[in-house]
Amino acid sequence: MRKRKYETIAIHAGQDPDPTTGAVVTPIYATSTYAQEAPGKTVYEYSRTDNPTRTALQTALGELEGVGDGGGAVATASGMAAVALLGYLHKPGDHVVIPNDAYGGTYRFIARVLGEQGVEWTVVDQTDLVAVEKALRPETTWVLAETPTNPLLRVVDIAAIAGLAHAGGARLVVDNTFATSYLQQPLALGADMSLYSTTKYVGGHSDVVGGALVTDDAELLEQLRFYQNAAGPVPGPFDVYLTLRGLKTLAVRMDRHCANARTIAEFLTGHQAVGEVFFPGLESHPQHELAATQMADFGGMISFRTKAGPDVAEKVVARTELFFLAESLGGVESLIEVPALMTHMSVAGTDLEVPADLVRLSVGIEHVDDLIEDLDQALSG
Ligand SMILES: *Cc1c(COP(=O)(O)O)cnc(C)c1O
Repeated sequence: MRKRKYETIAIHAGQDPDPTTGAVVTPIYATSTYAQEAPGKTVYEYSRTDNPTRTALQTALGELEGVGDGGGAVATASGMAAVALLGYLHKPGDHVVIPNDAYGGTYRFIARVLGEQGVEWTVVDQTDLVAVEKALRPETTWVLAETPTNPLLRVVDIAAIAGLAHAGGARLVVDNTFATSYLQQPLALGADMSLYSTTKYVGGHSDVVGGALVTDDAELLEQLRFYQNAAGPVPGPFDVYLTLRGLKTLAVRMDRHCANARTIAEFLTGHQAVGEVFFPGLESHPQHELAATQMADFGGMISFRTKAGPDVAEKVVARTELFFLAESLGGVESLIEVPALMTHMSVAGTDLEVPADLVRLSVGIEHVDDLIEDLDQALSG
């Protein structure tokens, strides 16, 4: 049979009508335990181990990345819980390679939690493949890549890094939160695992926190499922329901996020109060060509520097009306923030420090004319 398309899989995979009632939406199975026919004779035993609402989300997330038999997804209570599950795959003496503008929380987990437990780590600029190769050691178990990166929207070559990691005996995990599997398919490009904060575009409505790991490696999936049950960082069925509802419209929302962001990036590039604009869709972006081959579109995130410095950046973000001044990203409503003062405080004074005058936009799906007018008045005020 012809493989179904992304939009169809998002709505149907793992989401057949409920067998007992015919409900077309997967029910919220609000139960901790399940009655068994005889001891052990049951599909579901206990909701930390498995829950049907969660199973539906995991099936859909796996199929969206084309995982074959044995592959799949594990859903977690947050994106950081997904990072933490990955942490359980490490033992003291292991080494990981992380990007120089990794998500701040990921950096904090690796430096302050895994690091305290004896896992070593090296921070590199992953747009520099020679530096990535040099950072690999015999004890390197994982390379973590993030693309596009946060907040500087750098793009790294997933296939090339997968090749380097594998040649060095390491595995590659790609944090695919910004692009989502709709725009970018890390496993098809050679990665061993994709990681998500589903809090962002997948959920898409800023009303739920969640995460996921997806792999097509049966042994890895087995390990992840073991740690998911052993450590217990699972999402509840209500949260999973919201995430699944968001997933159904991911493709149409993402198309609009991308179109709006392209128009806004061009507007900002021509604005007198704006310095450098960071957006992979601009031809001036250093990895524009790579982004155009590796991604189906360029995403909804833009960062820019204000010409007049950090004080002005702070004023601009306070003046927008439609762009809410808030952390997070990927929702239907537009958000604006100053990374150095908000999302990236934990990396101040480290290799991951970001410019103080940087402003980050999560472009929503409002009408682009209204968004541009809002930015224009904030920048000109
Ligand atoms: C938000 C985010 C995370 C962490 O996810 P939470 O759901 O907030 O725990 C990890 N990686 C990236 C790229 C993120 O944007």
